[in-house]
Amino acid sequence: MKVTFLGTGTSTGVPAIGCDCEICRSTDPRDKRLRVSLLIEHEGRNILIDTSADFRQQALRVGLKELHAVLITHCHADHVFGIDDVRPINQKVGPIPFFANEIAWIGMREMFSYIFRPRGASSQPEIVPHTIYGPFSLFGLEIQPLEVIHGNLPVLAFRIGRMAYVTDCNLIPEAACEGLRDLDVLILDCLHYNPHPTHLNLEESLRYVAKLTPRHTYFTHMSHRVSHAGLSAELPSGVELAYDGLTFEI
Ligand SMILES: [Zn+2]
Ligand SMILES: [Zn+2]
Ligand SMILES: [Zn+2]
Repeated sequence: MKVTFLGTGTSTGVPAIGCDCEICRSTDPRDKRLRVSLLIEHEGRNILIDTSADFRQQALRVGLKELHAVLITHCHADHVFGIDDVRPINQKVGPIPFFANEIAWIGMREMFSYIFRPRGASSQPEIVPHTIYGPFSLFGLEIQPLEVIHGNLPVLAFRIGRMAYVTDCNLIPEAACEGLRDLDVLILDCLHYNPHPTHLNLEESLRYVAKLTPRHTYFTHMSHRVSHAGLSAELPSGVELAYDGLTFEI
C-alpha cells in the first residue's frame, strides 16, 4: 500500500494565523503544515484517516478523485471539520462508509446534526456510519483499532499490517503498546518540546519509540515550535519528522 501524509500540523495549522514567529515565517515548505490526515491507497481503493479541517485543499493537492472508506480517530474540529467536502466525491462513488468509535459518533451527531437528518433541499455529505468495536477488514486489509488517551478522551489509533497511525495522545496504555510491537512503520504524535496535557512532547514520543522499537518512525501533529530542519538534526536514526506530501510504500 501507498501512504501519503496529507497534513502533519497541530490544530491551528502552521503557520498559525497572525503569528510572526520564526517557524511561521519559515520559507522551508516542510514547515507548512496543514491539519493532520493520512491517505492510504491499496489495490485501487482509497482509505482516508480523518476528514481534516483542510480536507478540500489536501484532496485537490494530491488529485484525489475517489474515497472508499474513512477512518475517524476522534471528533475534534481539526480532524473532522472537512467532512462537508466529501460531497463531490459522493457524486462519483455514492455514500462513503465512515468508521469511528462510539464516543466519536456521539460527538459527530452533535457537531454535524444536519448530516444525520433526512435529506432536505440542500446538499449534505452522504456517509454510512459504522461503529468500531474491534478489528475489522477493509478491502483485504486488517484494520486493528487501538485505544490511546488524549487528555481524558479515548482516541483510536489504527494498526494496518506492519504500519500504525497513532496521533493525538498523551498516553499509550499497555494494551495498545502490545498491539504496536513488531512494526515496520510507526506514525506518532509529537507536538513539540514542551510538555502538554493532551499530546506527547518530544521526550515522551522518543520514550515510546525506544519502548516499541519500530523499524522506522515518523512524527506528526507538530506545532509552530518545531522547525523541520532544526529538530530533524537532533533525532536519532530511524526517526524523522513527517511533512505534508511525504509518501512511502509498505
Ligand atoms: Zn489533533
Ligand atoms: Zn508561529
Ligand atoms: Zn485531538
